[in-house]
Amino acid sequence: MGELPFDSRMGRRIGLALGLCAVLPVLVFAALAAHGAWLILTLTLVLALAGAAVASVYLTHRYGPALRALAEGLGALRARQFARLDVRSADEALLLIDNFNRAAASLDEQFRVLETLAQIDQLLLHSVDLEHVLDTIMSRVQGLTYCQSVGITLRDADAPGRGRVYLAASGLTDVPVSRIALDDDMLQALTEQTNGLTVVRCEESRHSFLKPLADTGAMFFWVWPVIVAERLEAILAVGYREVPVADPVVAHCGGKFAERLAVALSKSARDEHLYRQAHYDPLTALPNRLLFRDRLAQELANAAAGLSRGALLYIDLDHFKRVNDSVGHTAGDQLLTIVAQRLRSCIKDGDTVARLGGDEFTVILRNVAEPDAAAAVAARIIESLQLPVNIAGRDCYVCASIGITLFPDDAKTIEDLMRNADTAMYRAKDLGRGRMTFFDLNMASKPAKPTDTGLQHALRGREFSLFYQPQFDVAGGELVGVEALLRWQTPRDGMRYPGEFVPAAEESGLIVDIGGWVLDAACAQLAGWRERQIAPPRLALNVSAQQLQHADFPKLVRRALEKYDLPAALLELELTESVLANATVGAALARLAQLGVHLALDDFGTGYSSLSYLRQYPIDTVKIDRTFLNEVPQNPASATLVETIIVMAHALGKRVIAEGIETNEQLMFLRERRCDAAQGFYLARPLAAAAMTELLQARTLFVQDSMARAASN
Ligand code: C2E
Ligand code: MG
Ligand code: MG
Repeated sequence: MGELPFDSRMGRRIGLALGLCAVLPVLVFAALAAHGAWLILTLTLVLALAGAAVASVYLTHRYGPALRALAEGLGALRARQFARLDVRSADEALLLIDNFNRAAASLDEQFRVLETLAQIDQLLLHSVDLEHVLDTIMSRVQGLTYCQSVGITLRDADAPGRGRVYLAASGLTDVPVSRIALDDDMLQALTEQTNGLTVVRCEESRHSFLKPLADTGAMFFWVWPVIVAERLEAILAVGYREVPVADPVVAHCGGKFAERLAVALSKSARDEHLYRQAHYDPLTALPNRLLFRDRLAQELANAAAGLSRGALLYIDLDHFKRVNDSVGHTAGDQLLTIVAQRLRSCIKDGDTVARLGGDEFTVILRNVAEPDAAAAVAARIIESLQLPVNIAGRDCYVCASIGITLFPDDAKTIEDLMRNADTAMYRAKDLGRGRMTFFDLNMASKPAKPTDTGLQHALRGREFSLFYQPQFDVAGGELVGVEALLRWQTPRDGMRYPGEFVPAAEESGLIVDIGGWVLDAACAQLAGWRERQIAPPRLALNVSAQQLQHADFPKLVRRALEKYDLPAALLELELTESVLANATVGAALARLAQLGVHLALDDFGTGYSSLSYLRQYPIDTVKIDRTFLNEVPQNPASATLVETIIVMAHALGKRVIAEGIETNEQLMFLRERRCDAAQGFYLARPLAAAAMTELLQARTLFVQDSMARAASN
């Protein structure tokens, strides 16, 4: 059977009671009737019935309303409504109602605590803002403990003896955070009281964290420690004007909120850690490129709204690589850290110094009313960086070149502004380094000169690539080799050619690293072609004088050949005449020749031309510079020179390649003079690796096809 409504059940019970009242006299009546006492019996019966009726009315009146209310109250409890029952009734029923009301109130309290804690847990899962979590916890604690004020004290991460108190108090809004000194003994005592403690007399220094609560009129306090990883990180306190009842719900609640606070703090510490990792440079602790762009975007937005004008300073240290090379990378890192500190000390609060990488720094200046204000900061920076830096007992000197651009006057986007500042900085370097230059529009059209840092970035950022220019046999026309030529795909200025950056790389010494990359990349490419059986007969590389002067260059070449399993005879190293003018390179050339790689003398005729080099060193090939071919065949003097070079080189047993063939006449001229090979735009331009691969593939198919045809004839 299903559940019955209250009224019918109670009616049944009262009916049963009344029935008994009525049935008993009837039984007595029946017994007496059997003995013939009729009159007495009739009277007794009437009285009994009347008594039963009176009892029934009395009982219903006395207990009925209370029982009905209880039944309704229980139904409401099931629906999580904890309303108080307010019924007048007999003493026994009143006791029942009272008990019911107390149970309902306690359940109500517990449900509210649970619901609030669940809401806090949700917040902890989703909120990233610690202050928001603190505010919510404080307002919920107030709601549940009926306290007058709540305080959360957070210990400072960098100064554990100090802290800041966040306060919420009835009737107060936007209460400022108070800074306080914390008492060591009290902190120790709190750490051991994980269940919390009460404070009835607030002592100024021992209970400094209660002072802001006391200032709002609170005199009695409950305090709970917030422990994160066994360390007291915060204190939760509630304050009352009068002695509070020792309510177990408050004690329980406080403990639970302290636990939630611990979670919030450890989550916030982790978030903070992750944020720092993503936005700050680990070496100097300055904002990194990401945060710098973020801040610059904000400043540009302010400037666009007409709220402010600012300046961007692009700072590049002069000759930083020399410091790295002479005193080592660790010392270089120390120097960068000191530079970062000095830069920071040159700017005002609210301005930003960032490290973009290497020795490149930027400064965002806000509220720059006049260009002079930006110039003054730049001058301060240059001056402070010029002071010597003592590292490992040695005084190092650095100076910086600074490019300055103003916003929104010079540009309105991050990219344009960066380009301007960069251009102005290059100009400062051009003008002699250790100085500042303002951007002006005339600079914009000229491509910037590459800096050491720019080249280092290019090397690390894989912005270099190799193009390959085919070399052909002049008599038969077949492919005899390819020359690898370096290209720099810059993000801003497009493709840049070796003439634009190799001199700068040679000046800084970076050419050694770049040349190392070229050697590896070219050998890797050659190995790839060999694997597909389309390799050209020879691959030529340009080698700079500085590479050759490094004692272990021949070893590097040998290792590259071994790494890619290449026969040495496939490789040709192109050296310029200036290299041979240096007497120390003889041993290196001999070792390279011993390895079996070919050596070519590039740009022959332009430099320190001495035919004796050709006899002295193990050179296999002479490459006639393209300037001589320019005027061939129309200029008889040039024609004679080219002819003579070919004859003499042949006389010394060298192979001759002519560079810069742009016309058919030039090619015919070379054929008649029996030049061995030729290379030039007329025959083929330098090709990207993929295009070169296609050409090699087509050539292989053509050769196979011709051979098949020859065989079938
Ligand atoms: P190079 O070794 O004499 O290379 C030949 C240069 O002449 C290449 O210029 C090539 O593109 C260009 N060229 C070829 N045929 C013609 C033509 O018919 N007409 C004209 N006008 N030019 C032609 P690129 O690639 O700009 O290289 C210039 C120089 O840069 C090279 O001269 C070489 O000295 C140097 N270089 C190139 N790659 C490297 C490298 O990987 N390392 C080093 N250290 N230097 C390199
Ligand atoms: Mg060359
Ligand atoms: Mg050349």
